[in-house]
Amino acid sequence: MFHNATSAAMYRDVDFTSLPWLEQQWMAWYIYIGNPILATGLMSFLLHETIYFGRSVPWIIVDAIPYFRRWKLQAGKIPRPQEQWNCTKLVLFWHFTVELPVIWLFHPFAEMVGMRTYEVPLPGYAEWVPQIAFFFVFEDMFHYFAHQALHYGPLYKHIHKIHHMYSAPFGLAATYAHPAEVAILGMGTIAGPILLCIATGNFHLFSMYIWMTLRLFQAIDAHSGYDFPWSLQHWLPFWSGAEHHDFHHMAFTNNFGSSFRWWDRLLGTDDKYRAYRARVKASKDAIKCASNEERDKIEQKLIAEVEADGVRAEAEVLRRMAKQKVQ
Ligand SMILES: [Zn+2]
Ligand SMILES: [Zn+2]
Repeated sequence: MFHNATSAAMYRDVDFTSLPWLEQQWMAWYIYIGNPILATGLMSFLLHETIYFGRSVPWIIVDAIPYFRRWKLQAGKIPRPQEQWNCTKLVLFWHFTVELPVIWLFHPFAEMVGMRTYEVPLPGYAEWVPQIAFFFVFEDMFHYFAHQALHYGPLYKHIHKIHHMYSAPFGLAATYAHPAEVAILGMGTIAGPILLCIATGNFHLFSMYIWMTLRLFQAIDAHSGYDFPWSLQHWLPFWSGAEHHDFHHMAFTNNFGSSFRWWDRLLGTDDKYRAYRARVKASKDAIKCASNEERDKIEQKLIAEVEADGVRAEAEVLRRMAKQKVQ
C-alpha cells in the first residue's frame, strides 16, 4: 500500500485496518502525497481557503436577502457587490503571496517544536477541548494589546488603516488587512499552540486545524455586521461577536478584544460602546409605539453621530502623528 520509502517509514508500526475512518483518511492523505512537508502544506492551505470562503459566502447570501436586514447592526449599510469583489481580490492576493509561503514553512517548524503531524491516532475531545479553550483565552489577550498598539499613530497610518477601510464590515473583510497586520495578529493565533508544544510536548496538527477553523469562524462572524437573536453573545454574555466588533469599525475607538469582552470591560475601553448601547435601548424604549421605519430612522441618526465621532478620532490620530514628525 505504500508508494514510497517515506510513507513506509512513517507508518511502520501502524495497522491501517484497525483504525477509525478519520484516522484512515488522515494516513491515506500522507501516503498519497508521499512527502510530509508537501502534504501538510497543501492540506493546511486548502483547509484555510475552504473555511475562509465557505464561511464568508453564507454572509454574502444573507446580505442579498432583504428579510435579514432587521438584524443588520448598521441599518442600511449593505456592502455593494463591487465592494465585496474588491475585497475578495485583495484577500486572495495576500493569501497566495504571503500566507501560502508561511503555511508551507509550517511543517518543518511544527516538527521543530515537537508537534505531531502525520502520526495516528488523532487526539480525542479530552485532549483538544482544554487546549483550544486555552488558545481562545491567550489569543484574545494578545489581540487586545496588539490591536491597541496598532491604533498608535505610525502603526495605524502604515498598517492598520487598511483594515479600517470599512466602517460597516462584512464577513469577507475579516482579513482585509496589511500583511504586517496579519503577521502581527496571527502571532496570537499560533503562539498558543507553540507555547503548549514547548511546555507539554503534547499537541497534534489535527487540534491545530480545529483551532484554526474556530478562530476563522470567530473572525468572520465578528465582521458579519449582523446580530441575530440566536447569535452566540446572547448565550455567552462575555463573547464579543459582531455586535461588539462592529462598533469598533463604526466608532474607530473602543472594543479592541477579539473573542471576549473582558479585557475591554476590565480596562475601560468599552465606555463609548456601552453608552451607545444604552442610548439605542433608551430611544427604542421611548418610542415603543412608533413604526419600524421611525425606529430605524432614530437608530440611523445615532449611528451617524458615532461614525462622525469615529472619523474625528481617526483624523486626530493621523494629525498627532504628522505633528510629531514636524517637531
Ligand atoms: Zn482597529
Ligand atoms: Zn475588524
